[in-house]
Amino acid sequence: MTGTGKDTSVVIVGAGVAGLALGTFLLRKGVDCVVLEKHSRAYVERRQRAGALDAGGVRVLNEWGVGEAVEGHSRADSDSDSGVPMLVDGVQRWWRMGDDGESGDGVFCPQQVLVRNLVRIFLRDGGDLRFGAKDVSLRDIGTEQPLVRYREPDGSTRTVMCDFVAGADGYRGVSRTAVPEDVLTCSRHEFGYAWLTVMAEVPADPLALLAVHARGFAAQITRGPNASRLYLQCPLSDTVEQWPDERVWSELEARFGAPVERRGAITSKQIVPPRGVVFSPMSHGRLHLLGDAAHLISPMSAEGMSLALHDADTLARAVVQQVQKNDPSLLDGYSDTCLHHTWERQASAVRMTQIMHDSGDPTYEGEFRKQIARKELETMLEPQTAPHPAA
Ligand SMILES: Cc1cc2nc3c(=O)[nH]c(=O)nc-3n(C[C@H](O)[C@H](O)[C@H](O)COP(=O)(O)OP(=O)(O)OC[C@H]3O[C@@H](n4cnc5c(N)ncnc54)[C@H](O)[C@@H]3O)c2cc1C
Repeated sequence: MTGTGKDTSVVIVGAGVAGLALGTFLLRKGVDCVVLEKHSRAYVERRQRAGALDAGGVRVLNEWGVGEAVEGHSRADSDSDSGVPMLVDGVQRWWRMGDDGESGDGVFCPQQVLVRNLVRIFLRDGGDLRFGAKDVSLRDIGTEQPLVRYREPDGSTRTVMCDFVAGADGYRGVSRTAVPEDVLTCSRHEFGYAWLTVMAEVPADPLALLAVHARGFAAQITRGPNASRLYLQCPLSDTVEQWPDERVWSELEARFGAPVERRGAITSKQIVPPRGVVFSPMSHGRLHLLGDAAHLISPMSAEGMSLALHDADTLARAVVQQVQKNDPSLLDGYSDTCLHHTWERQASAVRMTQIMHDSGDPTYEGEFRKQIARKELETMLEPQTAPHPAA
């Protein structure tokens, strides 16, 4: 405990991309912190979710000297200078992915690899990371000395006093519940369909392949040298039981309009409804929310990790300015700064999700929207080269 009675400057709840990045950034500027994670190290380092980090996320890591966390991973557009291959009704086109986002190179890096690397870097830098922290609860966030209680793996209860709490515990975490209901607003958009997402033990070649088809959207995206995540648009009411392995592969073939020659063991299936969610404000008293604890973005945009890194970057700079210069201006503006960025990215993600889905299966939005979406899709694709005259 320090002379002021506090144990650390910042308690970070959650060791995902947001929490680990924030902890690493703070340590590098000499601000002490404690990260509390409810799961074990083995669990968080194996949990598979995202697979692509966009150029904005890579830039944040590089700016804090943490680029090694994604080093050695393929550039997200490395297959071709033309962009990401996309099959439109079975015809191969190229999606100029960078058109809508930040310039620079994104990477294909499985989320569990990024998390594993961030854990290693944080611990190597001398970070205090406590796994197996159960029943985390926040107290006195409206005062100058908030405290965080949790239960150690041996059952004993610990209390950590701090200056600030960072809620980086994901969409289903507890931090957000410390904000009074009459203060917090939740804005959400549901798209009206779901994705069957499937992990399969098979390399993706090319690293990402998308399909727009009348049967629905489909994709196969790399998750490492021998793993892919497959995506198939499906009705919200579908269950994984309706998708035996053979149906997954045959539906992928139908939407790709070509045989899928390399198949592998399917290790997990989930129905995920793409949605956009934004909680506001992202700060209340001494609590600041970041990452999925504050917002969800349609996975079609593959920007969730990047948004988490943007928040971590903004919060780290703000806390450092407060702690080292006694200047609260950045911290006071943290919520507005991040919400502005989040809404910008939500706008782009909603547009992209609608174009990719509406231009395929007309069941949801109708033929008129399909034709409009097709025209919009065309502006995002490399122009089609005229067919060669028959020799
Ligand atoms: C199928 C799918 C595909 C996706 N693809 C992409 C993609 O390609 N690119 C991309 O950028 N994003 C993608 N995303 C989104 C991305 O996975 C998330 O945006 C990202 O995980 C957010 O990171 P986070 O650190 O905010 O939250 P999380 O990763 O959820 O981390 C939160 C951490 O807090 C811990 N925690 C939770 N509750 C508590 C508690 N009470 N006490 C202590 N700890 C707690 C959790 O165990 C976890 O370790 C995808 C998401 C899905 C579902």
